[in-house]
Amino acid sequence: MHTIQNYINGNFHDPVSNDWIDNYCPANGEIYGKIPNSSKDDVENAYIAAQSAFPSWSQTTLEERSRILIKISELIEENLQRFAEAESKDNGKPISLAKVVDIPRAASNFRFFGNAITQFASESHESIGQDAVNYTLRQPLGVVGCISPWNLPLYLFTWKIAPAIAAGNCVVSKPSEITPMTAYLLGDICNQAGLPKGVLNIVHGLGSTTGQAIIEHPDIKAISFTGGTTTGSHIAKVAAPMFKKLSLELGGKNPNIIFADCDYNEMLETTVLSSFSNQGQICLCGSRIFVEASIYKQFKQDFIAKVKRLKVGHPSEPDTNIGALVSKSHLEKVIQYIEIAKQENGTVLCGGHEVSVKGFENGYYLEPTIIEVSTDECRINQEEVFGPVVTIMPFNTEDNVLQMANKVKYGLSATIWTNDLKRTMRLSNQIQAGIVWVNTWMMRDLRTPFGGVKASGVGREGGFEALRFFTEAKNVCIKY
Ligand code: NDP
Repeated sequence: MHTIQNYINGNFHDPVSNDWIDNYCPANGEIYGKIPNSSKDDVENAYIAAQSAFPSWSQTTLEERSRILIKISELIEENLQRFAEAESKDNGKPISLAKVVDIPRAASNFRFFGNAITQFASESHESIGQDAVNYTLRQPLGVVGCISPWNLPLYLFTWKIAPAIAAGNCVVSKPSEITPMTAYLLGDICNQAGLPKGVLNIVHGLGSTTGQAIIEHPDIKAISFTGGTTTGSHIAKVAAPMFKKLSLELGGKNPNIIFADCDYNEMLETTVLSSFSNQGQICLCGSRIFVEASIYKQFKQDFIAKVKRLKVGHPSEPDTNIGALVSKSHLEKVIQYIEIAKQENGTVLCGGHEVSVKGFENGYYLEPTIIEVSTDECRINQEEVFGPVVTIMPFNTEDNVLQMANKVKYGLSATIWTNDLKRTMRLSNQIQAGIVWVNTWMMRDLRTPFGGVKASGVGREGGFEALRFFTEAKNVCIKY
């Protein structure tokens, strides 16, 4: 049994209340560790450590901050296997995925922001005719809160804390209590890399206790949150009256729009990934597939055939494509959505059932599921399922598919498959989403802005946008 502790002021601590939560392994349904259910007192201790570290860290040269961040990145890479095993065990994702996506991208986050901070600049404006010059200072905010979800645990955790500390802030953070392990391992890596004590503090526990204590802390200046839309809305309500800066990356119900003139084979390969990678538990997954009517029949046949070949299995098996869902309650939620789809006259074309993996019968496994729908207005097409379930339906015209693509409350990402340049331009301008991929999916360049519109969030992270979020602009006007 593992015992995870809070990382505060460079040291590991039990929770003040001695209150613990069980940590489950999704692959076999067993409890394999315990984690703190931290209270306000732990968050306060983390805040005090962060506040004490801030004067010195905010004055640390950019070269030194950069050096430490890059060192953290290198140490994550050196420990790739260990981190990938831990992520896979905690989350249920195939180890093959953790090895090529989650952990390398977590390392990239530190390397990228370690470099980006040395290039981050602000503007100056000469007030001609008034004998004055204005310049903008970009000052760190102080102590900031970072709260991340369970689907890409270390990847999304570091996506926030790397820019926050690069910009000179100190952090009180909380990973999801469902997947705390890699954040816990990161504490030790930060110490090895020489990150000064108190710059990063990691407090584990439930959203309703630990997370709540972070968002309502009066002196935590900003909250960067990735998670569900309902939680995001709650955070906004609590934090807004305190005038905290907020960055909210929330849910999605992303359209995958396929035109007959696309590169068919490439589209098919990628659509399998954009539908079912990480058991469909990626906020960017294209869960609503719209296919131009002229190729619908062919697509349906080929897609089903490919999806049926995906292997659902134990996450540690190298040939597993679909691992376990993250928790029993999440599995139940996803199954409930499949039932709702059936009641709404959706046709399950493949999948739809739990899978019993030999030797791991209590794990949370589900077949990748394709549901054919005849209208986009059903719940399965409107609500975020966040599991290995996609819908497919044909469309006739560009206008028709654009309307359906936009007729959801979310607006995170969209994928378009076409070789028509004019159509690409028209649709990418009009689709309501923060990110539009054309002829690809989840290709990420860390310099680009990342975030959603509508119920998918507020604000942008990524690149200099993240550094802008984690700094306050101050205008200085000098008359000469
Ligand atoms: P949740 O919103 O349930 O939780 C996210 C984090 O917030 C967790 O650490 C959670 O803790 C914490 N939390 C919950 N309640 C509070 C509270 N009152 N105050 C402060 N923190 C709180 O999301 P999930 O973890 O279930 O993640 C899945 C969701 O995340 C999906 O909707 C998905 O679309 C979205 N997501 C969005 C992304 C984006 O970039 N837009 C990327 C990835 C995921 P606890 O675990 O204890 O509940």
